[in-house]
Amino acid sequence: MKRLTVLLPLITFLVFGSVLQAQAQEPIRVLIITGEADLPWHFWRETTGAIRKILDTTGRFETRLVEEPGTVNATILKKFDAVIINYNGLRWPRETEEAITDFVHSGGGLFAFHHSSYGRFFGHEIKDGQWYPGPEDAGWKEFPKMIGASWKPANIGHARRCIFEVDWMNQSHPVAAGLSPSFMANDELYHKLDLHEGVEVLADAMSPADLGGTGKREPLIWTNNYGKGRVFYTTLGHDTLAWYEPGMANLLSRGVEWAASGKVTLKPIDRGFGGPAKDDVRLLVVTSGHDYPVAFYSMLDSLQGVTWSHGLTHSEAFSQSLQGRFDVVLHHDMHNETSEQTRQTLKSFVESGGGVVSLHHAIVNYTDWPWWYEEVIGGKYFEKPLGDHPASTYQHDVEFSVTPVRGKERHPVLSGVGPLWVDDEVYKGMLLSPGIEVLMETKHPGNDPPVVYVGPHPNIRSVYIQLGHSASTMRNPGFQQLVENAVKWTARRID
Ligand SMILES: [Zn+2]
Ligand SMILES: [Zn+2]
Repeated sequence: MKRLTVLLPLITFLVFGSVLQAQAQEPIRVLIITGEADLPWHFWRETTGAIRKILDTTGRFETRLVEEPGTVNATILKKFDAVIINYNGLRWPRETEEAITDFVHSGGGLFAFHHSSYGRFFGHEIKDGQWYPGPEDAGWKEFPKMIGASWKPANIGHARRCIFEVDWMNQSHPVAAGLSPSFMANDELYHKLDLHEGVEVLADAMSPADLGGTGKREPLIWTNNYGKGRVFYTTLGHDTLAWYEPGMANLLSRGVEWAASGKVTLKPIDRGFGGPAKDDVRLLVVTSGHDYPVAFYSMLDSLQGVTWSHGLTHSEAFSQSLQGRFDVVLHHDMHNETSEQTRQTLKSFVESGGGVVSLHHAIVNYTDWPWWYEEVIGGKYFEKPLGDHPASTYQHDVEFSVTPVRGKERHPVLSGVGPLWVDDEVYKGMLLSPGIEVLMETKHPGNDPPVVYVGPHPNIRSVYIQLGHSASTMRNPGFQQLVENAVKWTARRID
């Protein structure tokens, strides 16, 4: 007996520990090295932004950026699993080049693309916009060996930029496994590169002769081994428009994951820049009854991990059941009256676990439905006196601050949201249910103190955010984060 009591906690700990490890994958640490390219052809700052956005959206990577490659050394590289090179320019200091060579040789991942396949790393020199071979020892000898390719200056070129189909040739490779057999590229189709022995070509495309191409299939994606390191190379990736294609998001994120770890765990991406994905929160946005700034749509598009649909009228939004189609309803409508249909649809939605986020003038909503404003939302703006409650008041174009309530700073709805300084609308004299949990407040005399609060119903997740009159509020990153958090929290995705 005694022995058992000693062993049991240990066994429990071990099993639990391994489960935890399987669930929370360590992020792959990626260093993007950039800072120069052959302008005006290749805008490194823009493509770096696109690349970083794609990687960050997957949640699989921890990305860092260096725009001064000469500062990279072995100590810095120790902190990374893979390096991305988005560069075409002067040679790097010897210490940097050697550190990168050693990094890859000893097992670090390398992802490089497009304009990294020619230029000074290869000993080429440029004159009047044309590349020529330079002196024998001008290049970084190990770089072509790492990427497994060279390009004779006389061969540097591509078909006129066009849209074409890229075919995966070997779908047993982890990067291509599970993807469609081909994807569309909107890019420059480089031709006549010399691939080194030992590279494995993963994808190619037909180079169109009528657009200045070779009329032959050209390799576009390949892998190479350099020492213990895995290298992933693609000739694609000319500009942000090229990187917008979902096929590029797949080859980048999967290529980097593979180069760093030898495995691919990421699910295929089917939209540009990692936008709407299958596990996004499904949000129904309901408007009508009041106008709003067009920037409202920019705010909605800024919400990460959320796919939204628009119900322009109540009959469009609520004529059929919402269960199974949406996780959260965002009210930005304004109607004193509700139909029986609207009430039934909303009641069964929230009672089955659906979330509610109400913005700004939606606090006027549903005067004929006290259950909604007293128990679900927890507040109400009265356009006219009702019973012994006088009419509420408003004032446009007021600058005021809204701050987290002390002790509520760590509520998930306020994560990453600090105090907000806004030019918006103040409301005063509203009904406030006793059971609301106030998250943000203001001291402005023209406004009731609560500005952001959770509704009182114990089984329904509802958040009211009073801000949202002006375009500047819609564009405020703190406000956008607040709405995103509210949507995810009412969808029960964050706690
Ligand atoms: Zn290009
Ligand atoms: Zn307003």
